[in-house]
Amino acid sequence: MTFNKSLVWFRRDLRAYDHASLHHALTSSAQVYCVFVYDTTMLEQLARDDRRVSFIHASIAALDAGLREMGGALIVRHADAVEAIPALAAGLGVDAVFTNNDYEPGAIARDLEVAARLEADGRAFHSYKDQVIFEKDEVLTLAGKPFPVFTPYKNAWLKRLAAHPDSLAPFAVEPYASQFAAPPDSSPLPSLAQLGFDPVDTHVATGMDGAAAIFDGFLERIEHYAAARDYPAVAGTSGLSVHLRFGTISIRHLVRTVQAMLGYGGGGAGAPAWLSELVWREFYAMILFRHPHVGERSFKPAYDAIEWESGPAADALFAAWCDGRTGYPLVDAAMAQINQTGFMHNRLRMVTASFLVKDLGIDWRWGERYFARKLIDYEMASNTGGWQWAASTGCDAQPYFRIFNPVTQSERFDPDGDFIRRYVPQLASMSRREIHAPWLHERKGAARGYPAPVVAHDEARKKTLARFDVVKAAV
Ligand code: FAD
Repeated sequence: MTFNKSLVWFRRDLRAYDHASLHHALTSSAQVYCVFVYDTTMLEQLARDDRRVSFIHASIAALDAGLREMGGALIVRHADAVEAIPALAAGLGVDAVFTNNDYEPGAIARDLEVAARLEADGRAFHSYKDQVIFEKDEVLTLAGKPFPVFTPYKNAWLKRLAAHPDSLAPFAVEPYASQFAAPPDSSPLPSLAQLGFDPVDTHVATGMDGAAAIFDGFLERIEHYAAARDYPAVAGTSGLSVHLRFGTISIRHLVRTVQAMLGYGGGGAGAPAWLSELVWREFYAMILFRHPHVGERSFKPAYDAIEWESGPAADALFAAWCDGRTGYPLVDAAMAQINQTGFMHNRLRMVTASFLVKDLGIDWRWGERYFARKLIDYEMASNTGGWQWAASTGCDAQPYFRIFNPVTQSERFDPDGDFIRRYVPQLASMSRREIHAPWLHERKGAARGYPAPVVAHDEARKKTLARFDVVKAAV
């Protein structure tokens, strides 16, 4: 054994199986402690009813139970992680802290600081790849550069996987369970109230078991994924994003399962389409790591010259968008979905983002921050990637002159209006013909209390094309 005692610091990897840093700690240390820190520097920025805290809280209880079954347990702290981890490491007398890589700029800065403090105290800090199959510099162009475009990245990603099938090997935990050490104090896990939060309905099953059940359910319909994934009224997608965000499911397990399916010709067109989405997630993680400015500024610098609407009129339009009062039924239904459940279907993320930027002329960053506050699966890399794609400011973004028509999108992707009826009750009695653009139909009364459109799409389209004139030279 290299180490006498070690500490595993859980962050966005809340599971007790196939876990890189836990595996490495258990196989190199005589005694292994586990910790999760409710980081006050992050919690301070959240509203009392933040859905993610309820999700984490329930998933932490499940993780603690899973560790206890193997003879371990979770030490939980409510503190600034930069202070708490070195202090706990010193208190336990561990030789090393093990954790998994986090690629967000703030997390990288935090980890550098924790590593420096530990090292100053004579302790090691080991961090491992765990949340992706291939990270930052494993999938590069022949010239050794990061790919700025998805399709060649995906092809290179798949090629690398074929060459390195061991990238999917699980990091076993259970066979090494005898190395778990019981925590010195056995204080109960903090309640949400002790953390300063209210319990909120997560609208999604939590913890490792919740994730496994969702994945099992999805596998029964994965073959329909390619055909169903764009229709928000049906359960066409996996619903696993929050579990990927918090690591309550292992990405290696997901990709292994899909690869095995592809190997025997199962999963129809759905399996490769779904694998492709998992690769998008890694593409955006790589982009954020390589270009950390994308959280704040356009990926393509020329697009920072665009002048967005501002002032009281823009504030009012933004408020109408946030509250789902734009008068465009699909946009309003989508905003009701995010506001009521903390989730929004992918097609609708594209539609609402495009509407904010290209119909209302509002800076994509306003929308990106709103999603960051509301989404239970908020992920800086995918959110900035998705917003910059919709705003045409990002890498591999759709060209600025492609502007979604919110009515046509509605007719195409919610043809019967079922999704709209679910979230905009004022429109429940409208027919499938009327519901996409109530203002155009005689039975306006059927849309009682529903607002008129805040902008006319055709006029907004012209304004947007003019607004993007400044980038014409750069396209
Ligand atoms: P599935 O269709 O089942 O896909 C499986 C997994 O692949 C997802 O769980 C997710 O991890 C990944 N994935 C799917 N689509 C994308 C994509 N376009 N980009 C990156 N990863 C993808 N995803 C987030 O996880 N967090 C975000 O904060 C986020 N913000 C977005 C903002 C905008 C404006 C847009 C257009 C997309 C955003 N996405 C985000 C991507 C996508 O909408 C969600 O991942 C997806 O809706 C989650 O549902 P699902 O798990 O059922 O997806």
